[in-house]
Amino acid sequence: MIPRSDQDGDRFDRAGFEIRQFSPIELAEVVIATDPELLGEDRSARQDWDGFDPPCTLKTESDIKVLPIQKRNLKPGSVYQGIEAAGDRWARKACDIARESVEQKGGPFGAVILQVDDQSGRILRYWTGCNEVTLSNDPTAHAEVVAIRKACVSLGVFDLGAIRKAASKLAQPGETSHCVIYSSTEPCPMCYGAIRWAKLKELFFAATRFDAAVEGVGFSDQALYEEFAKPYSERGMKIRQCEVGNSLDAFNLWKRSEKIEY
Ligand SMILES: [Zn+2]
Repeated sequence: MIPRSDQDGDRFDRAGFEIRQFSPIELAEVVIATDPELLGEDRSARQDWDGFDPPCTLKTESDIKVLPIQKRNLKPGSVYQGIEAAGDRWARKACDIARESVEQKGGPFGAVILQVDDQSGRILRYWTGCNEVTLSNDPTAHAEVVAIRKACVSLGVFDLGAIRKAASKLAQPGETSHCVIYSSTEPCPMCYGAIRWAKLKELFFAATRFDAAVEGVGFSDQALYEEFAKPYSERGMKIRQCEVGNSLDAFNLWKRSEKIEY
């Protein structure tokens, strides 16, 4: 816990909103991205989807070196019916991060987590993440997971859905705030699980899992989606439920222990 001090007052503008970057010294490896133009935005006036499928913004031959450009979002069937919304600067930012990740030899995925003041609806700060699987030899380092880890470590909380002022390592103007996540692509099952476990309040994604699965891109979660519906014996790997005498010890101890609920 970072000790609070009167200096916290320096972190807010006249309206009481935090607009400056925070980089706690003890979290030097965690980069808290900041761009004053993007912070303090009131998110309460978002528009509904106007029916426009965005074209790809890469245009030149050099942008696209191997396979034909992907021009439009693929939206098969009614999977996305009822959730279509207009993209905003944060969705674009997540996609920019994904493109930059490819330029840095990382995977083509990006994510942004916004911390929003509950009372005013204003954005306090944000964290970004890109896919670092191959760069860090971490198969779990998907963009969303990377961003969630950064946000949780920075804030010193494990619940990004309800951040109390008294519990947070970083200053906030109101008593409570929450986080939402933007992802460049529909999250995979692992990331969807991480987003739910982190209790993020809202999820926005740009490209679909079908966009990610096309020839030449080759990221498909289809097998995982199908496996969840199957008995273990029919899944894609050897799985055994093992009988051991102490399998319930931890739960019995947990029931009787003083614990941090989550
Ligand atoms: Zn993922």
